[in-house]
Amino acid sequence: MPVSKLTGKQCYSHHDLLVDNEGQDKEKAMAIASGERIPATLIPGDGIGPEVTKATVDVLDALGSPFAWETQTAGMAAIDAGGDPLPAATLDSIRRNKLALKGPLTTPVGGGFRSVNVRLREEFKLYANLRPAKTIIPGRYEDIDIVLVRENIEGLYVAHEYFVPVGADPRAVAVSTGVNTREGCRRIARFAFEYAVKNGRKKVTIVHKANVLKALTGIFLEAARDVAKEYEGRVEVDDRIVDACAMQLVLNPWQFDMLLCTNLFGDILSDQLAGLIGGLGMAPGANIGEHAAIFEAVHGSAPDIAGKGVANPVSLLLAAAMMLDHVSKPDLAERIRNGIQKTLLEDNVRTRDLGGTASTSEFTAALIKRL
Ligand code: NAD
Repeated sequence: MPVSKLTGKQCYSHHDLLVDNEGQDKEKAMAIASGERIPATLIPGDGIGPEVTKATVDVLDALGSPFAWETQTAGMAAIDAGGDPLPAATLDSIRRNKLALKGPLTTPVGGGFRSVNVRLREEFKLYANLRPAKTIIPGRYEDIDIVLVRENIEGLYVAHEYFVPVGADPRAVAVSTGVNTREGCRRIARFAFEYAVKNGRKKVTIVHKANVLKALTGIFLEAARDVAKEYEGRVEVDDRIVDACAMQLVLNPWQFDMLLCTNLFGDILSDQLAGLIGGLGMAPGANIGEHAAIFEAVHGSAPDIAGKGVANPVSLLLAAAMMLDHVSKPDLAERIRNGIQKTLLEDNVRTRDLGGTASTSEFTAALIKRL
């Protein structure tokens, strides 16, 4: 059995996993190895979520899905069903399965309940958000191949926020505090460098704003540089101030191989990366912790196109391919990726966001035919 470089413990899966699966219990690992169906939580989500989730499950079924789905609710759909945006049954299901595929969840802007996405990441300590961006359809840019690693549970996303009243205005001043711990920064840096080594990546660029946020992002830069020393000679390291990085991603994105970001900067730059490869319809993501992993698209619930049947399911399909890699089914993952490529490039079947006319279900049918 291979031994995890992260923990030194034995892991049950192979080198092509996104991260060693030491979080999976033995029983589950044996079930995977024996070819039994793998229990996984499925959260269709809000807005276009149910449309792209259905497309993804249909494609997986056509491939001979290794997953036994437990469908659960979260977000607005869960509020409509029972009043709680993150029901106990959903948490229990993820806790049991340690594996989930999730559609986007709507979060009210300004007031209302706290982001369920953020709560899930915190609850299951999904500290690493892995967001690869790779060109399939050459458009404004060609040959983009950048992997963004975003710290997923610290930074400004802890949202320690309050208002200070002044005079008659109870909300005259808004205060927000970010929290980055040295341990959390080292953990995400190690994840990024380990990923680089296992996946033949050459360079990690640490993204920060340590010139202004000297403590909050200074500690991130310092810890990441420190971890990088252990990888000297194997993985190159450099760093960029976030604003300059954003500009250089537009001018010359090919200089970047992997980006290692704090939570908020990673959130922003991963949407920018999606823009380099054709938009949010093309960008998958994985939230990974030691004891669970939740796969999802980078995009949100897209209320502007929800219910119209025009959403591009490719992001969630690529997230499902990452999920297949994660459970040691790289052959199935490759079939999805190849099928998507052929459907888009050879059959020229594309959804509206990619300049085509296909509906979500037409694209899905064409992809299934390809498989
Ligand atoms: P969004 O990602 O939902 O949409 C931004 C734009 O991209 C829209 O024009 C939309 O139509 C388009 N788009 C997104 N996905 C697409 C797809 N698959 N196919 C075609 N076009 C697509 O971002 P938003 O509008 O800022 O956010 C909407 C809601 O989603 C908010 O409540 C936000 O909090 C939530 N959100 C959730 C997640 C998540 O669940 N992980 C991520 C981001 C935003």
